[in-house]
Amino acid sequence: MASLYGRGVFDTDPPLVVGRLLDGVPELVDPTQPVASAFDLGLVRGDGIFESLLVRHGAVRGLSAHLSRMVHSAERLGMPAPDRSAWASLAAACADGWPSETDGVLKLVMTRGLEGLPGPPTCLATLAPVAQETLRQRREGIAVRQLCLGVASDERARSPWLLGGAKSLSYAVNKAALRHAEGAGAQDAVFVSTDGLVLEGPTATVVWASGHALHSPPLDSGILAGTTQAELFERAEHDGWSTVMVPTTPPDLVAADGVWLVSSVRGAAAVTSIDGVPRGDAGLTPTVHRLLDLLDG
Ligand code: PLP
Repeated sequence: MASLYGRGVFDTDPPLVVGRLLDGVPELVDPTQPVASAFDLGLVRGDGIFESLLVRHGAVRGLSAHLSRMVHSAERLGMPAPDRSAWASLAAACADGWPSETDGVLKLVMTRGLEGLPGPPTCLATLAPVAQETLRQRREGIAVRQLCLGVASDERARSPWLLGGAKSLSYAVNKAALRHAEGAGAQDAVFVSTDGLVLEGPTATVVWASGHALHSPPLDSGILAGTTQAELFERAEHDGWSTVMVPTTPPDLVAADGVWLVSSVRGAAAVTSIDGVPRGDAGLTPTVHRLLDLLDG
């Protein structure tokens, strides 16, 4: 069968990897061939969950933490609990043979299945090289714009249908925020609540340093529990830092010694300006990269 998207579209170096779970059994499939139905609720409603993981030096990083969050997201969306060992096998099958010198982004995707038709969730995985621009932002940092998300910081805790804390497939708002920030000359955004508190980036957790303490916003504001932030804080504490999750305002970020957007694939990207006002990192970014084991790029 011919590829859906024409010759050459899937030609990357290293080649893309696609896998799926069929009846809980992992298998790799031809990346040029369709793997989902046109009736899939993930496709037509964004109704499902996902995880993005870094494959570095040939190994999947933080798999257990990502699977735990996937289980939590499934519960929030009222979906069947993902089978951790099946997903772990699928992740391993995808990463098997991935070149150690190339950072890869592994996506695990579980949709609610077919609209109006019986059937199990659709369970897919993809592995692709991390974009050069993402690696550049890890090394050189990012300019950010603060954008209002339109919810109060306590709204998602009392309105479970807003899916606070779940990593759902409905990322159109997050992508629109990124495009808006890019249109304003930045590379990323920081969402702020209607009551003026810092929430998170569209695809990253906000972390800032002041004194010898690392800070990040509290989870009861409905933000996603970041696996990178959790790992960073754990390692920083071993290194003698104190860590705290505390409500903060945009002026607190301006006053901080350093601010980073942290996420699995990009790692820690230092914020080099906020709303067009340049800011430094007090020389701390190499420390943050060392703590996250990202020093070699
Ligand atoms: N917040 C949001 C909204 C995200 O989409 C992500 C990552 O995808 C994060 C935070 C960071 O999470 P992690 O560090 O687990 O990648």
